[in-house]
Amino acid sequence: MSLYGHAEFPASSYDKWKTTPPDFYADVDERECDHEEFDYDILTGRAFCNYCDHQWWLTEAQLKAMESAVLEYDRMMRRERRWWRIAWRTLADWLVSFRVDSDEVPF
Ligand SMILES: [Zn+2]
Repeated sequence: MSLYGHAEFPASSYDKWKTTPPDFYADVDERECDHEEFDYDILTGRAFCNYCDHQWWLTEAQLKAMESAVLEYDRMMRRERRWWRIAWRTLADWLVSFRVDSDEVPF
């Protein structure tokens, strides 16, 4: 006889859930890796997948495409920096136009 008045404390589903270790990888997708995100060595042309340990060689055309994409991104960032520089300069000039000279102050 136990403290609860019956022979054995009933194991509820809550107790079962609470005492079972969680499966942390239950929602991990087990599909084959497509090697879509990778880094590559610009000198050797060797590519490394970011998610698995697959390595391969990029072709000449792929290397050219990567290089032109990097150059296009650089051009885009230069245009954006130039735009912000002009915008801040315009704003600063506009704010300075409100400046009051000391001989205009009536006291
Ligand atoms: Zn991969």
